[in-house]
Amino acid sequence: MKLKKRHEVPDEHKWDLDSVYGSVEAWEKDYARVEEMLPQLTAFQGRLGESAATLLQALKMRDEVSKLLEQVVVWARMKEDEDTANSTYQALSARGRSLYAKATAAAAFLTPEILAIPAETIRAWLDQEPGLAAYRHELENTLRQKAHVRSPEVEELLAQMGEVGAAPSDIFGKLNNADLKFGTIKDEQGNEVELTLGRYLRFLESPVRDVRKQAFEALFTTYRKFRNTIAATYASSVKADVFYARARRYPSARAAALFGTNVPESVYDNLLATVNKNLPSLHRYVQLRRRMLGLDELHMYDLYTPMVADVDRKIPYEEAVETVLKALAPLGEEYCEIARRGMTVDRWVDIYENEGKRSGAYSFGSYTTKPYILMNYQDNLDSMFTLAHELGHSMHSYFSRRHQPYHYADYTIFVAEVASTFNEALLTDYLLKSTDDPRLKMYLINHQLESFRTTLYRQTMFAEFEHIAHQRVENGEALTADVLDEIYYDLNKRYYGTEGMVVDDLIAVEWARIPHFYSAFYVYQYATGISAATALSQQVLTEGRPAVERYLNFLKSGSSDYSTNLLKQAGVDMTSPEPIQQALDVFARLLDQMEQLAG
Ligand SMILES: [Zn+2]
Repeated sequence: MKLKKRHEVPDEHKWDLDSVYGSVEAWEKDYARVEEMLPQLTAFQGRLGESAATLLQALKMRDEVSKLLEQVVVWARMKEDEDTANSTYQALSARGRSLYAKATAAAAFLTPEILAIPAETIRAWLDQEPGLAAYRHELENTLRQKAHVRSPEVEELLAQMGEVGAAPSDIFGKLNNADLKFGTIKDEQGNEVELTLGRYLRFLESPVRDVRKQAFEALFTTYRKFRNTIAATYASSVKADVFYARARRYPSARAAALFGTNVPESVYDNLLATVNKNLPSLHRYVQLRRRMLGLDELHMYDLYTPMVADVDRKIPYEEAVETVLKALAPLGEEYCEIARRGMTVDRWVDIYENEGKRSGAYSFGSYTTKPYILMNYQDNLDSMFTLAHELGHSMHSYFSRRHQPYHYADYTIFVAEVASTFNEALLTDYLLKSTDDPRLKMYLINHQLESFRTTLYRQTMFAEFEHIAHQRVENGEALTADVLDEIYYDLNKRYYGTEGMVVDDLIAVEWARIPHFYSAFYVYQYATGISAATALSQQVLTEGRPAVERYLNFLKSGSSDYSTNLLKQAGVDMTSPEPIQQALDVFARLLDQMEQLAG
Protein backbone atom coordinates (compact mmCIF):
# COMPACT_ATOMS: atom_id res chain seq x y z
CA MET A 1 0.00 0.00 0.00
CA LYS A 2 1.32 3.38 -0.95
CA LEU A 3 1.67 5.87 1.89
CA LYS A 4 -0.49 8.96 1.88
CA LYS A 5 1.10 12.34 1.48
CA ARG A 6 0.63 14.60 4.48
CA HIS A 7 -2.01 16.79 2.82
CA GLU A 8 -4.04 13.69 1.89
CA VAL A 9 -4.49 12.63 5.55
CA PRO A 10 -7.98 13.56 6.80
CA ASP A 11 -8.08 15.99 9.75
CA GLU A 12 -9.67 13.52 12.17
CA HIS A 13 -6.58 11.32 11.89
CA LYS A 14 -4.23 14.21 12.56
CA TRP A 15 -3.31 15.96 15.76
CA ASP A 16 -4.77 19.38 16.22
CA LEU A 17 -1.74 21.63 15.96
CA ASP A 18 -3.83 24.45 14.49
CA SER A 19 -5.17 25.21 17.95
CA VAL A 20 -1.63 26.32 18.81
CA TYR A 21 -0.78 28.28 15.66
CA GLY A 22 -3.09 28.47 12.68
CA SER A 23 -0.34 29.82 10.45
CA VAL A 24 3.39 30.38 10.20
CA GLU A 25 2.70 34.12 10.61
CA ALA A 26 1.13 33.53 14.02
CA TRP A 27 4.18 31.47 15.00
CA GLU A 28 6.55 34.21 13.77
CA LYS A 29 4.77 36.72 16.00
CA ASP A 30 5.41 34.68 19.14
CA TYR A 31 8.94 33.95 18.01
CA ALA A 32 9.57 37.69 17.82
CA ARG A 33 7.91 38.19 21.19
CA VAL A 34 10.28 35.73 22.85
CA GLU A 35 13.22 37.58 21.32
CA GLU A 36 11.86 40.83 22.72
CA MET A 37 11.40 39.34 26.17
CA LEU A 38 14.97 38.05 26.52
CA PRO A 39 16.53 41.46 27.30
CA GLN A 40 13.81 41.98 29.93
CA LEU A 41 15.03 38.81 31.60
CA THR A 42 18.72 39.64 31.40
CA ALA A 43 17.92 43.07 32.87
CA PHE A 44 17.62 41.27 36.21
CA GLN A 45 21.22 40.15 36.06
CA GLY A 46 23.14 41.37 39.11
CA ARG A 47 19.91 42.38 40.87
CA LEU A 48 18.49 39.16 42.35
CA GLY A 49 19.99 39.83 45.76
CA GLU A 50 18.26 43.22 46.05
CA SER A 51 14.99 42.09 47.54
CA ALA A 52 12.35 39.41 47.73
CA ALA A 53 10.20 41.36 45.28
CA THR A 54 12.99 41.56 42.71
CA LEU A 55 13.72 37.85 42.97
CA LEU A 56 10.04 37.08 42.54
CA GLN A 57 9.76 39.33 39.49
CA ALA A 58 12.79 37.67 37.92
CA LEU A 59 11.41 34.17 38.46
CA LYS A 60 8.06 35.18 37.03
CA MET A 61 9.74 36.74 34.03
CA ARG A 62 11.78 33.57 33.51
CA ASP A 63 8.60 31.49 33.56
CA GLU A 64 6.81 33.78 31.16
CA VAL A 65 9.66 33.62 28.65
CA SER A 66 10.06 29.89 29.06
CA LYS A 67 6.36 29.13 28.71
CA LEU A 68 6.07 30.97 25.41
CA LEU A 69 9.44 29.71 24.19
CA GLU A 70 8.37 26.11 24.76
CA GLN A 71 5.19 26.58 22.80
CA VAL A 72 7.17 28.07 19.90
CA VAL A 73 9.80 25.32 19.91
CA VAL A 74 7.39 22.44 20.38
CA TRP A 75 5.02 23.47 17.59
CA ALA A 76 7.85 23.84 15.05
CA ARG A 77 9.31 20.48 16.04
CA MET A 78 5.97 18.69 15.70
CA LYS A 79 5.28 20.34 12.34
CA GLU A 80 8.69 19.14 11.20
CA ASP A 81 7.90 15.60 12.35
CA GLU A 82 4.65 15.52 10.36
CA ASP A 83 6.74 15.55 7.19
CA THR A 84 10.47 15.62 7.73
CA ALA A 85 11.02 16.44 4.06
CA ASN A 86 9.15 19.75 4.38
CA SER A 87 11.87 22.41 4.23
CA THR A 88 9.66 25.20 5.60
CA TYR A 89 9.19 23.42 8.90
CA GLN A 90 12.76 22.15 8.95
CA ALA A 91 13.82 25.77 8.93
CA LEU A 92 11.32 26.80 11.63
CA SER A 93 12.40 23.93 13.81
CA ALA A 94 16.08 24.85 13.44
CA ARG A 95 15.27 28.45 14.36
CA GLY A 96 13.31 27.18 17.35
CA ARG A 97 16.39 25.27 18.51
CA SER A 98 18.68 28.25 18.21
CA LEU A 99 16.18 30.47 20.02
CA TYR A 100 16.11 27.89 22.77
CA ALA A 101 19.91 27.95 23.03
CA LYS A 102 19.86 31.73 23.16
CA ALA A 103 17.24 31.75 25.90
CA THR A 104 19.15 29.15 27.91
CA ALA A 105 22.25 31.34 27.75
CA ALA A 106 20.20 34.40 28.74
CA ALA A 107 18.82 32.61 31.81
CA ALA A 108 22.17 31.10 32.84
CA PHE A 109 22.84 33.81 35.45
CA LEU A 110 19.83 32.83 37.58
CA THR A 111 21.06 29.77 39.49
CA PRO A 112 24.56 31.05 40.35
CA GLU A 113 23.11 34.37 41.45
CA ILE A 114 20.50 32.73 43.66
CA LEU A 115 23.24 30.56 45.14
CA ALA A 116 25.22 33.71 45.96
CA ILE A 117 22.39 34.97 48.21
CA PRO A 118 22.77 33.72 51.79
CA ALA A 119 20.37 30.87 52.55
CA GLU A 120 19.00 32.69 55.63
CA THR A 121 18.10 35.66 53.46
CA ILE A 122 16.19 33.51 50.99
CA ARG A 123 14.37 31.69 53.77
CA ALA A 124 13.41 35.00 55.40
CA TRP A 125 12.15 36.24 52.02
CA LEU A 126 10.07 33.11 51.58
CA ASP A 127 8.25 33.98 54.79
CA GLN A 128 7.87 37.68 53.96
CA GLU A 129 6.85 37.64 50.34
CA PRO A 130 3.68 35.59 49.76
CA GLY A 131 4.26 35.33 45.99
CA LEU A 132 7.65 33.77 46.56
CA ALA A 133 6.18 30.93 48.61
CA ALA A 134 4.98 29.35 45.36
CA TYR A 135 8.68 28.83 44.58
CA ARG A 136 9.61 27.40 47.98
CA HIS A 137 10.42 23.87 46.86
CA GLU A 138 12.33 25.11 43.82
CA LEU A 139 14.42 27.51 45.91
CA GLU A 140 15.08 24.92 48.60
CA ASN A 141 16.15 22.54 45.87
CA THR A 142 18.55 25.16 44.50
CA LEU A 143 19.93 25.90 47.96
CA ARG A 144 20.91 22.23 48.34
CA GLN A 145 23.64 22.89 45.79
CA LYS A 146 25.35 25.48 47.95
CA ALA A 147 27.74 23.01 49.56
CA HIS A 148 28.95 22.01 46.10
CA VAL A 149 29.56 25.44 44.62
CA ARG A 150 33.21 26.48 44.56
CA SER A 151 34.91 29.86 44.44
CA PRO A 152 34.29 32.05 41.36
CA GLU A 153 37.75 31.20 39.96
CA VAL A 154 37.22 27.46 40.35
CA GLU A 155 33.72 27.73 38.91
CA GLU A 156 35.08 29.56 35.89
CA LEU A 157 37.68 26.87 35.27
CA LEU A 158 35.07 24.13 35.64
CA ALA A 159 32.83 25.89 33.15
CA GLN A 160 35.69 26.13 30.66
CA MET A 161 36.34 22.42 31.06
CA GLY A 162 32.79 21.62 29.90
CA GLU A 163 33.61 20.62 26.34
CA VAL A 164 36.64 18.62 27.38
CA GLY A 165 34.53 16.75 29.91
CA ALA A 166 32.00 15.89 27.23
CA ALA A 167 34.70 14.61 24.84
CA PRO A 168 34.53 10.88 25.67
CA SER A 169 30.81 10.77 24.93
CA ASP A 170 31.39 12.69 21.73
CA ILE A 171 34.21 10.44 20.59
CA PHE A 172 32.21 7.31 21.31
CA GLY A 173 29.24 8.73 19.43
CA LYS A 174 31.34 9.43 16.35
CA LEU A 175 32.91 5.99 16.38
CA ASN A 176 29.66 4.20 17.04
CA ASN A 177 27.36 6.10 14.71
CA ALA A 178 29.63 7.06 11.87
CA ASP A 179 32.84 5.08 11.64
CA LEU A 180 32.08 1.55 12.77
CA LYS A 181 30.99 -0.87 10.06
CA PHE A 182 29.71 -4.29 11.00
CA GLY A 183 29.94 -6.06 7.65
CA THR A 184 27.24 -8.20 6.12
CA ILE A 185 25.29 -11.27 7.15
CA LYS A 186 22.89 -13.62 5.32
CA ASP A 187 19.25 -12.91 6.20
CA GLU A 188 16.31 -15.37 6.41
CA GLN A 189 16.08 -15.56 2.62
CA GLY A 190 19.80 -16.04 2.19
CA ASN A 191 20.33 -12.51 0.90
CA GLU A 192 23.52 -10.71 1.81
CA VAL A 193 22.50 -7.73 3.96
CA GLU A 194 24.48 -5.09 5.76
CA LEU A 195 24.40 -5.33 9.54
CA THR A 196 23.73 -1.93 11.09
CA LEU A 197 22.98 -0.88 14.65
CA GLY A 198 19.46 -0.03 13.53
CA ARG A 199 18.86 -3.54 12.20
CA TYR A 200 20.66 -5.46 14.93
CA LEU A 201 17.71 -5.99 17.22
CA ARG A 202 15.48 -7.12 14.37
CA PHE A 203 18.05 -9.76 13.40
CA LEU A 204 18.38 -10.81 17.02
CA GLU A 205 14.62 -11.33 17.15
CA SER A 206 14.69 -13.53 14.05
CA PRO A 207 13.05 -16.94 14.36
CA VAL A 208 15.95 -18.30 12.28
CA ARG A 209 18.71 -19.10 14.69
CA ASP A 210 21.55 -18.77 12.24
CA VAL A 211 20.51 -15.19 11.46
CA ARG A 212 20.62 -14.33 15.17
CA LYS A 213 23.97 -16.03 15.58
CA GLN A 214 25.55 -14.29 12.59
CA ALA A 215 24.29 -10.89 13.74
CA PHE A 216 25.56 -11.45 17.28
CA GLU A 217 28.97 -12.63 16.12
CA ALA A 218 29.43 -9.95 13.48
CA LEU A 219 28.46 -7.18 15.88
CA PHE A 220 30.62 -8.19 18.80
CA THR A 221 33.58 -9.29 16.70
CA THR A 222 33.62 -5.74 15.35
CA TYR A 223 33.49 -4.19 18.82
CA ARG A 224 36.21 -6.55 19.94
CA LYS A 225 38.53 -5.20 17.24
CA PHE A 226 38.22 -1.75 18.80
CA ARG A 227 38.13 -2.80 22.43
CA ASN A 228 41.27 -0.92 23.50
CA THR A 229 40.16 2.33 21.90
CA ILE A 230 36.66 2.07 23.37
CA ALA A 231 38.01 1.06 26.77
CA ALA A 232 40.23 4.16 26.82
CA THR A 233 37.26 6.29 25.77
CA TYR A 234 34.99 4.85 28.44
CA ALA A 235 37.72 5.03 31.09
CA SER A 236 38.12 8.74 30.30
CA SER A 237 34.41 9.22 30.73
CA VAL A 238 34.49 7.56 34.15
CA LYS A 239 37.55 9.60 35.11
CA ALA A 240 35.74 12.79 34.11
CA ASP A 241 32.79 11.79 36.32
CA VAL A 242 35.14 11.18 39.21
CA PHE A 243 36.98 14.44 38.57
CA TYR A 244 33.80 16.52 38.62
CA ALA A 245 32.49 14.76 41.69
CA ARG A 246 35.73 15.49 43.53
CA ALA A 247 35.91 19.06 42.24
CA ARG A 248 32.44 19.67 43.66
CA ARG A 249 33.19 17.79 46.88
CA TYR A 250 30.81 14.90 46.54
CA PRO A 251 31.79 11.69 48.31
CA SER A 252 31.63 9.76 45.01
CA ALA A 253 30.66 9.99 41.36
CA ARG A 254 27.45 8.14 42.10
CA ALA A 255 26.57 10.49 44.93
CA ALA A 256 27.12 13.41 42.55
CA ALA A 257 24.89 11.91 39.87
CA LEU A 258 22.04 11.09 42.26
CA PHE A 259 22.29 14.45 43.99
CA GLY A 260 20.66 16.14 40.99
CA THR A 261 17.29 14.52 41.63
CA ASN A 262 17.90 14.18 45.39
CA VAL A 263 17.58 10.41 45.20
CA PRO A 264 19.31 8.73 48.16
CA GLU A 265 22.02 6.25 47.25
CA SER A 266 20.13 3.67 49.27
CA VAL A 267 17.58 3.55 46.40
CA TYR A 268 20.35 2.38 44.09
CA ASP A 269 21.83 -0.14 46.51
CA ASN A 270 18.43 -1.43 47.32
CA LEU A 271 17.61 -1.99 43.65
CA LEU A 272 20.82 -3.95 43.12
CA ALA A 273 20.35 -6.05 46.24
CA THR A 274 16.71 -6.89 45.56
CA VAL A 275 17.26 -7.79 41.92
CA ASN A 276 20.21 -9.98 42.85
CA LYS A 277 18.11 -11.76 45.43
CA ASN A 278 15.63 -12.53 42.66
CA LEU A 279 18.09 -13.86 40.10
CA PRO A 280 16.70 -17.39 40.55
CA SER A 281 13.53 -16.13 38.79
CA LEU A 282 15.62 -14.95 35.86
CA HIS A 283 17.34 -18.33 35.75
CA ARG A 284 13.95 -20.02 35.72
CA TYR A 285 12.95 -17.71 32.86
CA VAL A 286 16.07 -18.64 30.90
CA GLN A 287 15.32 -22.35 31.33
CA LEU A 288 11.70 -21.91 30.29
CA ARG A 289 12.85 -19.98 27.23
CA ARG A 290 15.23 -22.78 26.29
CA ARG A 291 12.46 -25.37 26.58
CA MET A 292 9.93 -23.31 24.68
CA LEU A 293 12.36 -22.65 21.85
CA GLY A 294 13.15 -26.37 21.80
CA LEU A 295 16.90 -25.89 22.17
CA ASP A 296 19.45 -28.09 23.94
CA GLU A 297 21.33 -25.08 25.06
CA LEU A 298 20.46 -21.42 25.04
CA HIS A 299 23.02 -18.90 23.81
CA MET A 300 23.14 -15.15 24.43
CA TYR A 301 21.81 -14.62 20.90
CA ASP A 302 18.68 -16.62 21.76
CA LEU A 303 17.44 -14.16 24.37
CA TYR A 304 15.45 -11.80 22.15
CA THR A 305 13.52 -13.98 19.76
CA PRO A 306 9.87 -14.30 20.85
CA MET A 307 9.13 -17.50 22.77
CA VAL A 308 5.69 -17.74 21.16
CA ALA A 309 4.44 -17.20 17.64
CA ASP A 310 3.04 -13.80 16.76
CA VAL A 311 -0.72 -13.53 17.17
CA ASP A 312 -2.19 -12.12 14.07
CA ARG A 313 -4.92 -9.98 15.55
CA LYS A 314 -6.10 -7.01 13.58
CA ILE A 315 -6.89 -4.15 15.92
CA PRO A 316 -8.06 -0.97 14.22
CA TYR A 317 -7.36 2.29 16.03
CA GLU A 318 -10.98 2.76 17.15
CA GLU A 319 -10.98 -0.68 18.76
CA ALA A 320 -7.64 0.02 20.43
CA VAL A 321 -9.09 3.20 21.94
CA GLU A 322 -12.07 1.28 23.36
CA THR A 323 -9.89 -1.53 24.72
CA VAL A 324 -7.40 0.82 26.32
CA LEU A 325 -10.26 2.72 27.98
CA LYS A 326 -11.75 -0.49 29.35
CA ALA A 327 -8.34 -1.46 30.71
CA LEU A 328 -7.98 1.93 32.39
CA ALA A 329 -11.51 1.88 33.83
CA PRO A 330 -10.17 1.20 37.37
CA LEU A 331 -8.83 4.78 37.29
CA GLY A 332 -12.35 6.17 37.28
CA GLU A 333 -14.63 8.14 35.01
CA GLU A 334 -12.84 11.47 35.00
CA TYR A 335 -9.56 9.95 33.88
CA CYS A 336 -11.24 7.86 31.19
CA GLU A 337 -13.37 10.68 29.85
CA ILE A 338 -10.37 12.98 29.42
CA ALA A 339 -8.42 10.13 27.82
CA ARG A 340 -11.31 9.26 25.50
CA ARG A 341 -11.66 12.84 24.29
CA GLY A 342 -7.90 13.11 23.92
CA MET A 343 -7.71 10.04 21.69
CA THR A 344 -10.77 11.08 19.64
CA VAL A 345 -12.51 14.47 19.33
CA ASP A 346 -9.83 16.53 21.06
CA ARG A 347 -7.32 15.17 18.57
CA TRP A 348 -4.23 14.77 20.71
CA VAL A 349 -3.07 11.92 18.48
CA ASP A 350 -1.46 11.96 15.07
CA ILE A 351 -2.50 8.42 14.30
CA TYR A 352 -1.16 6.95 11.08
CA GLU A 353 2.01 6.89 9.06
CA ASN A 354 2.33 9.20 6.08
CA GLU A 355 5.08 9.96 3.62
CA GLY A 356 8.00 11.63 5.39
CA LYS A 357 6.52 11.33 8.89
CA ARG A 358 8.94 10.72 11.72
CA SER A 359 9.02 7.06 12.76
CA GLY A 360 8.28 5.68 16.22
CA ALA A 361 6.03 7.20 18.84
CA TYR A 362 6.19 9.89 21.51
CA SER A 363 4.19 12.11 23.81
CA PHE A 364 5.02 15.79 23.52
CA GLY A 365 3.64 19.28 23.94
CA SER A 366 4.06 22.26 26.25
CA TYR A 367 2.32 23.80 29.24
CA THR A 368 0.01 25.77 26.97
CA THR A 369 -0.79 23.04 24.42
CA LYS A 370 -2.60 19.73 24.41
CA PRO A 371 -0.42 16.78 25.43
CA TYR A 372 0.07 15.53 21.88
CA ILE A 373 0.94 11.98 20.82
CA LEU A 374 2.77 10.98 17.68
CA MET A 375 2.00 7.44 16.54
CA ASN A 376 2.63 5.32 13.48
CA TYR A 377 -0.37 3.14 14.29
CA GLN A 378 -0.28 -0.30 12.63
CA ASP A 379 -3.59 -2.06 13.49
CA ASN A 380 -1.96 -4.63 15.79
CA LEU A 381 -1.38 -5.47 19.45
CA ASP A 382 2.02 -3.83 19.64
CA SER A 383 0.57 -0.56 18.41
CA MET A 384 -2.22 -0.77 20.96
CA PHE A 385 0.39 -1.14 23.71
CA THR A 386 2.30 1.83 22.32
CA LEU A 387 -0.89 3.88 22.38
CA ALA A 388 -1.54 2.94 26.02
CA HIS A 389 2.08 3.80 26.88
CA GLU A 390 2.11 7.23 25.23
CA LEU A 391 -1.34 7.99 26.63
CA GLY A 392 0.12 7.38 30.10
CA HIS A 393 2.74 10.08 29.48
CA SER A 394 0.16 12.46 28.05
CA MET A 395 -2.27 12.03 30.95
CA HIS A 396 0.57 12.61 33.40
CA SER A 397 1.42 15.83 31.53
CA TYR A 398 -2.23 16.82 31.29
CA PHE A 399 -2.89 16.48 35.02
CA SER A 400 0.42 18.02 36.11
CA ARG A 401 -0.09 21.01 33.84
CA ARG A 402 -3.63 21.51 35.10
CA HIS A 403 -2.77 21.26 38.77
CA GLN A 404 0.69 22.79 38.96
CA PRO A 405 2.08 26.23 38.20
CA TYR A 406 4.38 26.31 35.19
CA HIS A 407 7.59 25.87 37.19
CA TYR A 408 6.41 22.57 38.71
CA ALA A 409 4.54 21.14 35.73
CA ASP A 410 7.42 19.06 34.32
CA TYR A 411 8.23 15.78 35.96
CA THR A 412 11.71 14.33 36.47
CA ILE A 413 13.30 11.43 34.61
CA PHE A 414 13.05 9.41 37.80
CA VAL A 415 9.25 9.29 37.54
CA ALA A 416 8.86 9.87 33.79
CA GLU A 417 8.23 6.25 32.81
CA VAL A 418 5.91 5.44 35.70
CA ALA A 419 2.61 6.56 34.17
CA SER A 420 3.37 4.99 30.79
CA THR A 421 4.45 1.63 32.19
CA PHE A 422 1.51 1.69 34.60
CA ASN A 423 -0.89 1.87 31.64
CA GLU A 424 0.82 -1.05 29.92
CA ALA A 425 0.47 -3.10 33.10
CA LEU A 426 -3.26 -2.35 33.33
CA LEU A 427 -3.74 -3.18 29.65
CA THR A 428 -1.96 -6.52 30.05
CA ASP A 429 -4.01 -7.34 33.12
CA TYR A 430 -7.26 -6.50 31.34
CA LEU A 431 -6.41 -8.47 28.20
CA LEU A 432 -5.30 -11.50 30.20
CA LYS A 433 -8.53 -11.48 32.17
CA SER A 434 -10.75 -11.05 29.13
CA THR A 435 -9.43 -13.80 26.89
CA ASP A 436 -9.48 -17.61 26.94
CA ASP A 437 -7.27 -17.93 23.91
CA PRO A 438 -4.10 -19.62 25.23
CA ARG A 439 -2.04 -18.34 22.31
CA LEU A 440 -3.02 -14.76 22.99
CA LYS A 441 -2.34 -15.27 26.68
CA MET A 442 1.11 -16.60 25.96
CA TYR A 443 1.81 -13.72 23.62
CA LEU A 444 0.80 -11.19 26.27
CA ILE A 445 2.80 -12.87 28.99
CA ASN A 446 5.83 -13.06 26.71
CA HIS A 447 5.48 -9.33 26.10
CA GLN A 448 5.39 -8.59 29.85
CA LEU A 449 8.19 -11.01 30.73
CA GLU A 450 10.38 -9.40 28.10
CA SER A 451 9.79 -5.92 29.41
CA PHE A 452 10.73 -7.08 32.92
CA ARG A 453 13.82 -8.84 31.63
CA THR A 454 15.06 -5.95 29.49
CA THR A 455 13.98 -3.10 31.77
CA LEU A 456 14.27 -4.41 35.29
CA TYR A 457 16.97 -7.10 35.12
CA ARG A 458 19.09 -5.84 32.25
CA GLN A 459 19.14 -2.16 33.26
CA THR A 460 20.00 -3.18 36.82
CA MET A 461 22.89 -5.22 35.47
CA PHE A 462 24.04 -2.09 33.61
CA ALA A 463 23.65 -0.07 36.80
CA GLU A 464 25.79 -2.60 38.61
CA PHE A 465 28.43 -2.43 35.88
CA GLU A 466 28.81 1.32 36.01
CA HIS A 467 28.85 1.30 39.78
CA ILE A 468 31.76 -1.16 39.79
CA ALA A 469 33.61 0.73 37.04
CA HIS A 470 33.39 4.02 38.94
CA GLN A 471 34.44 2.43 42.21
CA ARG A 472 37.51 0.95 40.54
CA VAL A 473 38.62 4.36 39.27
CA GLU A 474 37.85 5.94 42.64
CA ASN A 475 40.14 3.32 44.18
CA GLY A 476 42.89 4.29 41.78
CA GLU A 477 42.63 1.21 39.57
CA ALA A 478 42.88 1.25 35.78
CA LEU A 479 39.97 0.40 33.48
CA THR A 480 41.59 -1.54 30.66
CA ALA A 481 39.71 -3.56 28.06
CA ASP A 482 40.58 -6.73 29.99
CA VAL A 483 39.24 -5.32 33.23
CA LEU A 484 36.01 -4.12 31.63
CA ASP A 485 35.50 -7.43 29.83
CA GLU A 486 35.98 -9.29 33.07
CA ILE A 487 33.55 -7.14 35.05
CA TYR A 488 30.94 -7.40 32.31
CA TYR A 489 31.33 -11.11 31.71
CA ASP A 490 31.10 -11.92 35.43
CA LEU A 491 27.87 -9.96 35.66
CA ASN A 492 26.40 -11.85 32.71
CA LYS A 493 27.39 -15.13 34.26
CA ARG A 494 25.71 -14.16 37.51
CA TYR A 495 22.54 -12.86 35.83
CA TYR A 496 22.06 -15.50 33.14
CA GLY A 497 24.31 -18.40 34.01
CA THR A 498 22.19 -21.42 34.75
CA GLU A 499 21.77 -24.99 33.58
CA GLY A 500 21.40 -25.17 29.81
CA MET A 501 22.68 -21.62 29.28
CA VAL A 502 25.88 -20.82 27.42
CA VAL A 503 27.19 -17.40 28.37
CA ASP A 504 29.15 -16.79 25.16
CA ASP A 505 32.65 -15.30 25.45
CA LEU A 506 31.78 -12.56 22.98
CA ILE A 507 29.20 -11.05 25.34
CA ALA A 508 32.10 -9.84 27.49
CA VAL A 509 32.61 -6.90 25.14
CA GLU A 510 28.99 -5.71 25.15
CA TRP A 511 29.90 -2.87 27.53
CA ALA A 512 31.62 -1.31 24.49
CA ARG A 513 28.38 -0.69 22.67
CA ILE A 514 26.16 0.94 25.32
CA PRO A 515 25.77 4.70 24.67
CA HIS A 516 23.98 5.21 28.00
CA PHE A 517 27.20 4.42 29.86
CA TYR A 518 28.35 7.89 28.85
CA SER A 519 25.55 9.39 30.97
CA ALA A 520 26.63 7.71 34.16
CA PHE A 521 24.10 6.45 36.71
CA TYR A 522 21.15 7.13 34.45
CA VAL A 523 19.81 3.71 33.46
CA TYR A 524 18.91 2.58 36.99
CA GLN A 525 15.91 4.89 36.65
CA TYR A 526 14.41 2.59 34.02
CA ALA A 527 14.49 -0.24 36.54
CA THR A 528 13.10 1.81 39.42
CA GLY A 529 10.47 3.26 37.07
CA ILE A 530 9.05 -0.10 35.98
CA SER A 531 9.13 -1.29 39.60
CA ALA A 532 7.20 1.72 40.86
CA ALA A 533 4.69 1.43 38.00
CA THR A 534 4.13 -2.27 38.63
CA ALA A 535 3.72 -1.78 42.38
CA LEU A 536 1.26 1.07 41.83
CA SER A 537 -0.77 -0.87 39.28
CA GLN A 538 -0.96 -3.82 41.68
CA GLN A 539 -2.20 -1.50 44.42
CA VAL A 540 -4.85 0.02 42.15
CA LEU A 541 -6.05 -3.42 41.06
CA THR A 542 -6.20 -4.94 44.52
CA GLU A 543 -6.91 -1.99 46.82
CA GLY A 544 -9.25 0.04 44.62
CA ARG A 545 -10.36 3.59 45.41
CA PRO A 546 -7.79 4.73 47.99
CA ALA A 547 -4.95 3.55 45.74
CA VAL A 548 -6.59 5.24 42.74
CA GLU A 549 -6.82 8.53 44.62
CA ARG A 550 -3.16 8.33 45.58
CA TYR A 551 -2.17 7.52 42.01
CA LEU A 552 -4.20 10.37 40.51
CA ASN A 553 -2.65 12.76 43.01
CA PHE A 554 0.74 11.56 41.87
CA LEU A 555 -0.19 12.33 38.23
CA LYS A 556 -1.19 15.83 39.32
CA SER A 557 2.00 16.50 41.26
CA GLY A 558 4.52 17.29 38.48
CA SER A 559 7.79 18.17 40.18
CA SER A 560 6.27 20.00 43.14
CA ASP A 561 8.33 17.84 45.52
CA TYR A 562 11.30 15.46 45.28
CA SER A 563 10.50 12.40 43.16
CA THR A 564 10.96 9.86 45.93
CA ASN A 565 8.57 11.88 48.15
CA LEU A 566 5.94 12.03 45.41
CA LEU A 567 6.16 8.28 44.92
CA LYS A 568 6.01 7.69 48.65
CA GLN A 569 2.75 9.63 48.84
CA ALA A 570 1.47 7.54 45.94
CA GLY A 571 2.18 4.40 47.94
CA VAL A 572 5.66 3.25 46.97
CA ASP A 573 8.75 3.83 49.05
CA MET A 574 11.68 3.47 46.68
CA THR A 575 14.15 3.47 49.57
CA SER A 576 12.70 0.12 50.68
CA PRO A 577 12.94 -3.22 48.86
CA GLU A 578 9.16 -3.64 48.70
CA PRO A 579 8.24 -2.05 45.34
CA ILE A 580 11.14 -3.82 43.61
CA GLN A 581 10.15 -7.08 45.25
CA GLN A 582 6.49 -6.53 44.32
CA ALA A 583 7.47 -6.07 40.67
CA LEU A 584 9.67 -9.15 40.76
CA ASP A 585 6.83 -11.11 42.34
CA VAL A 586 4.65 -10.18 39.36
CA PHE A 587 7.45 -11.41 37.11
CA ALA A 588 7.55 -14.71 39.00
CA ARG A 589 3.76 -15.11 38.80
CA LEU A 590 3.76 -14.45 35.04
CA LEU A 591 6.49 -17.04 34.77
CA ASP A 592 4.29 -19.57 36.62
CA GLN A 593 1.44 -18.85 34.22
CA MET A 594 3.69 -19.23 31.22
CA GLU A 595 5.08 -22.51 32.51
CA GLN A 596 1.54 -23.84 32.87
CA LEU A 597 0.41 -22.65 29.46
CA ALA A 598 3.53 -24.03 27.79
CA GLY A 599 2.80 -27.43 29.40
ZN1 LIG B 1 7.88 6.24 27.50
